[in-house]
Amino acid sequence: MKNFAAEIKALHDRQIYRQINTYQMIDACHACDENKVYLMLASNNYLGLTHHSKVKTAAINAVTAYGTGSGGSRLTTGANKLQKELETKLAKFKGTEASLLFNTGYMANVGIISAVMGLNDVIFSDELNHASIVDGCRLSKSRVIIYRHNDMSHLAELLAAVPCRGQRLIVTDGVFSMDGDIAPLPDIVQLAEQYEAMTMIDDAHAVGVLGPNGQGTAAYYGLEPKVTIQMGTLSKALACEGGYAAGSRQVIDYLINKARSFIFSTALAPATAGAGLAALEELQNHPNLVMQLNENAKYLRNQLIAAGLPVINSQTPIIPVLTGDEQTALKMMHKLKGDGIIISAIRPPTVPVGTSRLRITVSAAHDVQELAWAARMIKQAARSLGLGEE
Ligand SMILES: *Cc1c(COP(=O)(O)O)cnc(C)c1O
Repeated sequence: MKNFAAEIKALHDRQIYRQINTYQMIDACHACDENKVYLMLASNNYLGLTHHSKVKTAAINAVTAYGTGSGGSRLTTGANKLQKELETKLAKFKGTEASLLFNTGYMANVGIISAVMGLNDVIFSDELNHASIVDGCRLSKSRVIIYRHNDMSHLAELLAAVPCRGQRLIVTDGVFSMDGDIAPLPDIVQLAEQYEAMTMIDDAHAVGVLGPNGQGTAAYYGLEPKVTIQMGTLSKALACEGGYAAGSRQVIDYLINKARSFIFSTALAPATAGAGLAALEELQNHPNLVMQLNENAKYLRNQLIAAGLPVINSQTPIIPVLTGDEQTALKMMHKLKGDGIIISAIRPPTVPVGTSRLRITVSAAHDVQELAWAARMIKQAARSLGLGEE
């Protein structure tokens, strides 16, 4: 029998044992527990829409109209009106013919990749892609070729070198979840054309963040028609939960018939579809939300860089402060929690060994005064642990 106790002890010994904290969100940027109120700098709630009155009302109205659960998978009990409407609007937002909802972003990636790719196929995947892409690749039974992070000459080399009897797919995060940098989509699309490969982009952290109206990575580069599948989520900037695939009508019809995580799972609850629709509408009606988000991110990032902290200089609201080892990341997280700020320490296996970090995320709803205070506290915590220059 598996020795659970020994395995758990090993995690403790390596300082990578994880536990779940309990917090209540009071508003979009503040959480509390029995001790105190915290400033939240760890959430992917980029636009602060989780607590927007219109979004909350839409969720409540959806429950009143359609009940609490959808009762079955979409292919058995059908789609309710809200799910259909959300798919139509998401497709329009992403500049595609159609879209399909999944219950989570994780399930979207696993379902899409394993449906589209098979035994004789080859997937080219960025080394820092999200775990759900990694799992989708494994489930597909395709040969998986990992290229160095955002390294287009490495990708070109591998495309030329690896024989393929079937289909090729290049898959990448649009905005990388732990580093906050952006995939070089123009080069990826060009290589895909040269090698007749399909392309898939995961916009979990790009929707509501990148592009003129927050439509994501393809829109940011003006390359919507060149991407085979734009995957995205409702769980981050869109303030609820769920994932989706956006693409041509044919691709979506194929997924309806082949994606097992879509077929064999009960459809999103009406409240989620209602909230998702309202959040999307807020985003589309208020492009200033995306500008505010980017201004807040720029402000905090510049404060931390000016303080001499080892910040990965991303262009997105994900601001990683590299500590290198797990211990420093954990100590800094605990110190900041004592100060009243929640920031996650990110450790292996989420990031490569030796690249542990604090992952700070900013939202459009943060107040600049509070960000200024947070920057001072982060700097203090870093100095007390010997991190950053004097
Ligand atoms: C969060 C995330 C997912 C998973 O989305 P969920 O809706 O949380 O399941 C997929 N890909 C990336 C890049 C993510 O950051």
